[in-house]
Amino acid sequence: MNVLVLNSGSSSLKFQLIATDRERIQKNADERICRGEVERIGGEAIVTAESEKSPRQKFTAPLADLSAALEYLIRWIASEESGISQVQSAADIHAVGHRVVHGGEMFSESAIITDEVLKGIEDCIDLAPLHNPNNIKCIRAARQILGPKVPQVAVFDTAFHHSLPERAYLYALPYHLYRRHHIRRYGFHGTSHRYVAYRYRVLRNLTREQTHVITLHLGNGCSAAAIRGGYPVDTSMGMTPLEGLVMGTRSGDIDPAIVNLIATKEGLSPHEVEMLLNTQSGLLGISGLTNDMRVLQQELKDHDDRRVRLAIEVFCYRARKYIGAFLACMGGADAVVFTGGIGENSTDIRARICTGLEWAGLKLDKNRNEHAIGKEAQISTDDSNLKAFVIPTDEELLIARDTVRCIAGEPHPS
Ligand code: ADP
Repeated sequence: MNVLVLNSGSSSLKFQLIATDRERIQKNADERICRGEVERIGGEAIVTAESEKSPRQKFTAPLADLSAALEYLIRWIASEESGISQVQSAADIHAVGHRVVHGGEMFSESAIITDEVLKGIEDCIDLAPLHNPNNIKCIRAARQILGPKVPQVAVFDTAFHHSLPERAYLYALPYHLYRRHHIRRYGFHGTSHRYVAYRYRVLRNLTREQTHVITLHLGNGCSAAAIRGGYPVDTSMGMTPLEGLVMGTRSGDIDPAIVNLIATKEGLSPHEVEMLLNTQSGLLGISGLTNDMRVLQQELKDHDDRRVRLAIEVFCYRARKYIGAFLACMGGADAVVFTGGIGENSTDIRARICTGLEWAGLKLDKNRNEHAIGKEAQISTDDSNLKAFVIPTDEELLIARDTVRCIAGEPHPS
């Protein structure tokens, strides 16, 4: 089955085409046919795409909206110039898997998109006003372009965290605010946490119930999850992705009283302060330079800039603090798993986070850490009580596999 995986943003559309089915899933033999991204939708859009058989292609096209971008994309996939032999026409795209950001309290797992499910995603717009509307537009566009017979599946960023106990998801606010407005912690990056926890248990030959890990997704957005018995018991992101760890441009945890103080002192509206916390804070805010960890590390090496050093220190300190907190929340873990662009590639950041966790039994193996770049590996010593692993995430693969499983009517995908 050729599954088109779509991740739609306000002006971008990331895609992958993956050939997978029950047999391929069992054999871990899914085939990535092509992947790419359409950026700057709304104007002269830039399309980048690559497949295993053809090198990276880049072209531009005037694409007014998500629907136009998707139509263009499907036409390109089916065209001769794409070099994709598996797809001769749109009919060779057998299903679509969508990354949907917010599933609220309604969706505890991936779901085949029916009118009712679409209504449920619409009902969550209040919780994710910047994200869910784009996901809905993309779902409608795919339905229109490919026809109602092509099954579509929604895979929610929040769903994996559905197992959080009340004590972990409830804010200590007047309870009626939870009742009236569903104000609670939901958690995000669920597909990534779920995928790396799954890979960890495959690597270590464990059952789901035996999986007790802290997963750290460190990319542009960053989050941690405390996973006990295969399911999250706590996570760092909250009602929105703003809470928790220090991120590229997001502050993570702050004293909520700061919002009003910034608004008053800087003459900003609450909305503008929220934007500042989301887009001008984190690594970018402290360093005053960039949200890109790779650039910060180079800068630190070349110039030992004080604010760059501080940005990196605050980033790593917060991550370590969450590991400590989660160890207490979950009564100890077997491993810390690093993923995301920073977690998978930065030996230095991993070392900085792990240094100071020796009390918890985590002993980093310097040599293993240095060699674990973008690949699955253990980076702690064999005698560590708390192990450390690097496991590259693959959200698209999980979305494609969930799509297959949902279509087959399997109730609980792994
Ligand atoms: P997103 O969350 O947008 O998917 P990624 O998971 O790709 O982002 O992570 C992007 C971050 O990973 C950037 O800060 C980037 O600098 C960082 N990164 C990628 N490779 C390295 C590396 N080798 N060393 C340090 N940071 C890296």
